Amino acid sequence: MVNIFGLDIEEIKEAISKLNIPSYRSKQIADWMYKKGKNSFYDMTNLPKNLQSTLATEFEISPPTLTQRLDSKYGDTSKFLLSFDENTAVETVLMRKKYGNSVCVSTQAGCNMGCAFCASTLLGLSRNLTATEMFGEVYYVENELRKEGISVTNLVLMGSGEPLMNYDEVIKFLRLIHDENIMGIGYRNITLSTSGIVPNIYRLIEENLPITLSISLHAPNDELRTKLMPINKKYPLKDVVEAGQLYAERTKRRLTYEYILIDGINDEKNHAVELSELLRGQLANVNLIPINPVKERNFYRPSKEKIAAFLNYLLKSNISATVRKEMGKDVNAACGQLRNRYLEEGN
Ligand code: SAH
Repeated sequence: MVNIFGLDIEEIKEAISKLNIPSYRSKQIADWMYKKGKNSFYDMTNLPKNLQSTLATEFEISPPTLTQRLDSKYGDTSKFLLSFDENTAVETVLMRKKYGNSVCVSTQAGCNMGCAFCASTLLGLSRNLTATEMFGEVYYVENELRKEGISVTNLVLMGSGEPLMNYDEVIKFLRLIHDENIMGIGYRNITLSTSGIVPNIYRLIEENLPITLSISLHAPNDELRTKLMPINKKYPLKDVVEAGQLYAERTKRRLTYEYILIDGINDEKNHAVELSELLRGQLANVNLIPINPVKERNFYRPSKEKIAAFLNYLLKSNISATVRKEMGKDVNAACGQLRNRYLEEGN
């Protein structure tokens, strides 16, 4: 059986042409599958009965399945553990915000970047996700929202995994999700977050996709950044910031630098001074994220006063900066925590 879930119109055309099914049926099938969330050919009521049964014997439509769902008691965040096969499950998060419904997509099952503060990397990398699987994450949430008469409006590639270490499939996924016949999500509503895989930031510039780039900085100098993010040994801060600057210039899109605040580690005045020197004159916004403590790590959140002092120093130095509003703390929204618990419990 061929799984046609995740194929675009042209690919569906090609698959059905082998059965001598006329090509215009492709758009009808895609419509039922992607716009109406049907995964049985027998629900596609504008197809003749005999065509429905031919399709059902040759093809299947297999989106990911739900293993676990957690809803925040505040009503703003839902977390889904979605499975693609027996061994592969990832986390996908829905955040309901004032401006729309944002989905946080995982790009790898696990991660091997080794960042010291992150839960996703604790169990290593299991495998890259395919474009179809990433699409399946968004599709799953879209179907849930359809029941409420609303839809997914924004995407952040900030779930488990390093998107620029799974470059080709991520680009394929972005084109798929943007396709009018599939989900039609505007590139401007998509943010890709990276730990700074420099050569692939340059490749991304050449793709000419007006998505927002977000770079995880987390430290203002190489010594500290290498301790927190081992990838910094390969791609040091200066090269990362240079690539970021070129991205902003070429795409005319404001860049975001993410900076987790960890008590006593990277949140002192001298760090704020160094950070503002590093970013002076850039078309960028610094997003300060009070750390989500992970139980396996001894990192804690700074006091409100320290967070405010760090923010104020940046603002006083004319660096655009904001503190991220926290969502879904009660549903383990820090990437990777739900999946880890699930794997550890021996499921
Ligand atoms: N690999 C990519 C995208 C996934 S992580 C990247 O590094 O950007 C998405 C964001 O969540 C990153 O900025 C990451 O540093 C941050 N993050 C990871 N663990 C966190 C934690 N415990 N608390 C707060 N943010 C965390």
